[in-house]
Amino acid sequence: MSLNRRDFMKLGLGACLLPAIGYSRADTLVSEQMYVFGTLVGVDVLAADTEAARAAIADVSHTFSVQNRDWHAWKPGALGDLNRALAAGREHVVEPGLLSMLHEAREIAHASGGLYNPAIGSLVGLWGFHSDELPVGAPPDAAVVAQLAAAAPGMEDLVFKGNRVSSRNPHVQIDLGGHAKGVAIDLALDRLAQLGYGNALVNLGGNLAVSGDRGGRPWRIGVRHPQGSGALASLEISGRMAVVTSGTYERYRQSGDRRYPHIIDPRSGQPASHVVSATVLHRHAARADGPATALVVAGPEAWVDVARHMGLEDVMIVDDHGRVQLTPGMAARVQFVAQPASVKIVELA
Ligand code: AMP
Ligand code: MG
Repeated sequence: MSLNRRDFMKLGLGACLLPAIGYSRADTLVSEQMYVFGTLVGVDVLAADTEAARAAIADVSHTFSVQNRDWHAWKPGALGDLNRALAAGREHVVEPGLLSMLHEAREIAHASGGLYNPAIGSLVGLWGFHSDELPVGAPPDAAVVAQLAAAAPGMEDLVFKGNRVSSRNPHVQIDLGGHAKGVAIDLALDRLAQLGYGNALVNLGGNLAVSGDRGGRPWRIGVRHPQGSGALASLEISGRMAVVTSGTYERYRQSGDRRYPHIIDPRSGQPASHVVSATVLHRHAARADGPATALVVAGPEAWVDVARHMGLEDVMIVDDHGRVQLTPGMAARVQFVAQPASVKIVELA
């Protein structure tokens, strides 16, 4: 079966499962969708027993809800409690799951040269992104933004004593919005494998990872067009593999006819807007999510050095003129569905 343009236009997510290409095994594809992490989540598994598969997906879905509560930056929950303690200058005991995420996020922040910086929760809040609804109206006072950026909250300000965490910088507020989805996807695939489902796909608002294959054929997914509807490209993946996309088109602050995207450059405190989407292919979604956010911040030129420094191999960048840059490995995998303004292949090695 071939994919026509209408099929792609139907796709609403940043990256998504494309229509069936046909598979031969007795297993059927069991799909469920849920709304969690403020986004649409899809889980697909190949299974012989549909009912048992639905129960496994319900298990994973329940975990997503718990993670959403525990890893939320400002609502009541484990991370919210840590942030309130940090704001009050107190040390706080952090549970093991969140603690290991903080360590991993700190590592990624370091590798990104601080462009991925989950300690800028206050800046994210100042721009109005600590709300389930998209913010509207004039941007925050430039002097206040500059002042907060100059206070330079960073992950290196955190002090870890076993499971007790405190901060040397009173401006540190942790926002794991650029990392948590990757972690959640990896854990979901681990759990599905543990329950006997080794051929699965998890799509968390366009951040996507697969295990196994789709009945002897690779999973075929689409990367959303950041400047239009539908897909920009499709690619085939199998085994344990993640395709994570960060885009400025998802969440933004609308002020008149201007849009201020939700990804903030920690150096200025201003939204990053010259890279409109960054897609990272990696074995682990958790190792692609923060880096994809960092590449959006880095911009259409500096992303190359930042990607190299983070040890990435397969990347695709779209800038605000619709120009695509991608690594040779990525170029070998993607098929463009829409015609980019230009395509440039960039070596990272
Ligand atoms: P993502 O969709 O993975 O790119 O993550 C974007 C989310 O991460 C935003 O909604 C913020 O909550 C948070 N964020 C924004 N800018 C940054 C940044 N420079 N580093 C880390 N997290 C950020
Ligand atoms: Mg991210």
